[in-house]
Amino acid sequence: MKRSLLLLSYQLHPLYITTSGISKADEIIFIDSDDQWTYYKFHKQRIVYHLSAMHHAIASLKQSGYRVRLLQTKSVLEALQTLGEVIAFKPTNRYELKWLQTHQSINLLEDPTFFISEKEWYTLLPAGKPWKLDPLYRQFRQRFAVLMEGDKPMGGQYSFDAENRGSPPPLWTVDPPRLFLPDATTQAIMQSVEKRFADHPGELTTFAYPVTRLDALTMMHDFFTSRIDTFGVYQDAMMVNEPWMSHSLLSAAMNLGLLSAKEVIEAAMKTYQTKPHTLASIEGFIRQILGWREYVRGVYLVQDDAYLSLNTFNHQQDLPKFYYDGETKMQCLQSTIQQTLTYGYNHHIQRLMILSNYANLVEVEPLQVNRWFNEMYIDSFEWIVAANVIGMGMHADGGKMSTKPYISSGAYIDKMSNYCQDCAYVVTLKTGAKACPFNSLYWQFIHKNKSDFSKNPRMAMMVKVLDKMDPDQREAILKQAKAIIHASR
Ligand code: SF4
Repeated sequence: MKRSLLLLSYQLHPLYITTSGISKADEIIFIDSDDQWTYYKFHKQRIVYHLSAMHHAIASLKQSGYRVRLLQTKSVLEALQTLGEVIAFKPTNRYELKWLQTHQSINLLEDPTFFISEKEWYTLLPAGKPWKLDPLYRQFRQRFAVLMEGDKPMGGQYSFDAENRGSPPPLWTVDPPRLFLPDATTQAIMQSVEKRFADHPGELTTFAYPVTRLDALTMMHDFFTSRIDTFGVYQDAMMVNEPWMSHSLLSAAMNLGLLSAKEVIEAAMKTYQTKPHTLASIEGFIRQILGWREYVRGVYLVQDDAYLSLNTFNHQQDLPKFYYDGETKMQCLQSTIQQTLTYGYNHHIQRLMILSNYANLVEVEPLQVNRWFNEMYIDSFEWIVAANVIGMGMHADGGKMSTKPYISSGAYIDKMSNYCQDCAYVVTLKTGAKACPFNSLYWQFIHKNKSDFSKNPRMAMMVKVLDKMDPDQREAILKQAKAIIHASR
């Protein structure tokens, strides 16, 4: 009997075909339905990326002799109603899982592209106990023999995090990543997305991401050949007009299945053989994939949808409008959001220490921040964004994901970027019309959460600094912060 394999737009890796056990006599089905692209109001480049990668995969599968059918409908449910018995892979995003589970005759298989199975996460992240990435990361390194020499980590330590925090050198020019001009297929999809999703955020003309497995492999090879050397030390650095820094840009290709996490890690380890001096960079890169990427998936899996609405600080402000147009005098936010709109991409420190940091300091409801992060990035998926934003960025889960909130004043941003050099505000000022807004907002945040933070060993020092501040200065700072929060309504 002929079988049908249903693949989603991001289940493009050959592993999905081999794991399903289908043959060329069977049929592969893809769906292009409006609800996949509007569940969140996704950035136009994210929609193009999914559609173009899917269309290229379809062409490649057909060329290899597979029978492939694309269903174009308004909803996934509508497409499913036309199908009989199908095999599919369990999507991690709960909303997609709910769609697929409406189909009576569906055999859902475990996603083969992750290191850790769904079932195992319930043991690794038990309810009621604190979760920590570090011991899990060590465990995964040993178990999957990644950067190990026998039972010892290469270089004598599991993490080189302390070597991954360099400030950008003043005159540094960053080598650009390998990007790709859109071919005729991608161009046609860009035109269609521009019409079909005209009210979605983001520019399209700059789209240059790899949409085939071959191009994704080329991008990966280029990263390990020419950019890995500077990735590690400057991975937290930020510069105006440098959207990529030395980051790999491989996250979207991995999340779409153009590359598997396993093959990217294997390529990283191979690079270590030829470039042993890049160990700190390679370890930092692998930690993001084998550690953090797997971990955030686990956190999403063991939680339910209530996690997305957690709001431990009870923040109720709306997301400032400039998150959608970049129109602010704050250079750090203006520059970062312009990059988001232009490329659907920011690196992790821009996401954490500029965008989430500011949203937290001006008391934005975490659910709104979660929605924005889901919408705006080419590599976004609900399973990735949830723990990154609700847990880490907004600390809205009360500390399950991280022992302290990731907030900062302007000083950290000034240390890690060149944003403050060309800003309408002065990073060293705390009060007055020219004062950097991050400064007063930071101290107001500490003040407001003083009783909790004084019991947190990682925050107690800042409470003491606030307490020792001149009372008039403290009053002026708090007044200034309240005015900024009020104005952001
Ligand atoms: Fe951002 Fe403040 Fe620096 Fe301006 S001065 S770029 S607002 S941190």
